[in-house]
Order: sequence, then C-alpha cells, then structure tokens
Amino acid sequence: MPGAIMDGRALARTIEEDCRRRAAAYRQRCGRAPRLDVVLLGDDPASRVYVRGKFRASERVGIDARDHFLPADTSEADLKSLIERLNRDDAVDGLLVQLPLPGHISGNAVIAAIRPEKDVDGFHMHSAGALMMGRGEGFRPCTPLGVMRLIASTGIDLCGKEAVVIGRSNIVGKPLALMLLEANATVTITHSRTPAAKLEEICRRADILIAAAGCPKVVTAQHVKRGAVVVDVGMNRTADGKLCGDVDFEPVRERAAFITPVPGGVGPMTIAMLMQNTVEAAERHEKARARG
Ligand code: NAD
Repeated sequence: MPGAIMDGRALARTIEEDCRRRAAAYRQRCGRAPRLDVVLLGDDPASRVYVRGKFRASERVGIDARDHFLPADTSEADLKSLIERLNRDDAVDGLLVQLPLPGHISGNAVIAAIRPEKDVDGFHMHSAGALMMGRGEGFRPCTPLGVMRLIASTGIDLCGKEAVVIGRSNIVGKPLALMLLEANATVTITHSRTPAAKLEEICRRADILIAAAGCPKVVTAQHVKRGAVVVDVGMNRTADGKLCGDVDFEPVRERAAFITPVPGGVGPMTIAMLMQNTVEAAERHEKARARG
C-alpha cells in the first residue's frame, strides 16, 4: 500500500488558526496587532513569491506585516542602518531579512545586526546557540521547526529511531539535525561530499529520512527503507517551470509509510512556523515591557 501523505497545507491551517486566536488576544490586551517587518533587496522572483506568501499568511492570522523593499544595489551600511532603526522601534515585534542577499552584502553580518529578540527567522547566532545548548531562548528556524511538526503529526515517537538528514546548511540541515537529536533520534547528516553509493547505504538505514539538498530525485526508491517516514524539503524548478522536491515521489511513496508532497508539504509549514514565531515574539515583547 502506498504511504500516507503528510498534508502540510492542512496542518499549517490548524497552526495558523491557533496563531490567529493568540494574535487576536494580543490585540485585545495591547491595543495593536503583533507586527512583522520584512526587508527585501532587489527583485529576485523566487524571493518575491516567498515574501508574498508571508504577507498573505500574516493577513489571515492578523499580523501587521510591513514591507521594506530596497533596490538591489543598496549598500550594506544603509541596510544595517534600516535594521538598527527597526531594532529600536518598539512597535516592531519580529524582523526578517529575506535571503539570499546580493553578492556585495555579507548575509552573516546583516543577520547578526538583527536584535535576537526580533529574530523570528531563527537565523541569528543567539538563536543557533540556544538551539545547540537545548535552551528555550531565541527562535527555532521555521523550516526545521515545520519538519518536526510534520513528523510529530504521524504520532511516531522519535526516541531511538535512526534519522538521516541530507544537507548541512545553517538554515535547514544543521538545525534540523539538532532538533532530531533533541527528540532522542540517532542522527546522521549527509552532504554533497558524501559519496553517492554511501548516501544510498546510509539513507536505507533511516526510519526518518529528510531530503534538504536542493537536488531533484536525490532520493529514489533505492534509498528508502520500507515503512520509513520521508520528508522532502527540496524546492526545485523543472525545465517546464514546475515545482518539484528532492524525492522521486511516486516510487518512494510505494516504500514509505508517510511522505510529504511538493508542493503542499514543508512549504506551507515553514510559513505557519514564521507566524507562530512572530506571535511568540510579540508575546515575549509584551512580557518584557511589563517587566519594564
Ligand atoms: P543549500 O544549498 O544551502 O544546502 C544544500 C545542502 O545539500 C548542502 O549542505 C549540500 O552539501 C547538500 N547537497 C547538495 N547536493 C547533494 C547531494 N547530491 N547529495 C547529498 N547532499 C547534497 O540549501 P538549503 O537552503 O539548505 O535548501 C535546501 C533545499 O530546500 C533547496 O531546494 C531549498 O529551495 C529548499 N528549501 C525549502 C524550504 C521550504 O520552505 N520548503 C525552505 C528552505 C529551503
């Protein structure tokens, strides 16, 4: 029997509904909606699509999302002074800079300039360090957090399970591996230097297999143990412009117990987690104001 589909859209809707209730209660208590400021440089079409998705979700949830669209040739100094201004603005709860940035700007320096309390993307060193130390401070990055929620929705206990993550980026692979470790899985990270034959052998051990390589069909049926949970983070464009993941969906579904589709899997969950982090930032901000 083919594996069950993990419906990211449906799960994202229930999370957004919870966020909507929390945002409405916040508005009642504080006299304003939680606020998210989004900085975007240039007109990269994919970035525009992602930002549009974030604004639409904010509207559904009742988050006051503001855009700061700057030309691609904005200097790093000007970008940092905008971030400084938003850091100081007490009306701003969450702040993110859409990646990737143009080549003349250091993404690391820009992310480091964001006040950790407003770092709803969870990319700041403070958030990364808190995750590594297993502490509740900072924010967890949205995509790995969304993957963990999808896995939780299967009801499978991760304790003692073999989890394999394909990809070691700072925004997906590494934080996801830490979150799986926190859930007591035995975790292996593979990457572009893992030889292809070895990759297949390692993946076949996985009870939980997560593909975040940005490489179509990097996971085939041969990579998958029967009954595994397969999560596809990849977002790639086919030659005819269609969105596809990293997993060869139909043959892999025949072996998997659960699988995420692309689109409709991890993508909507990433946005729902951004909404959750933003509401959380506003609530923490409210508590900090009360402490004075
Ligand atoms: P990245 O390019 O920063 O990292 C890719 C990682 O995959 C690297 O660590 C690399 O070593 C590894 N890799 C590449 N080819 C490989 C191969 N053949 N075998 C094994 N490992 C390989 O990308 P990223 O930002 O981590 O994103 C990964 C994918 O996830 C992309 O397709 C991206 O578009 C997608 N993504 C989706 C969402 C979402 O919300 N659905 C969010 C973020 C990223």
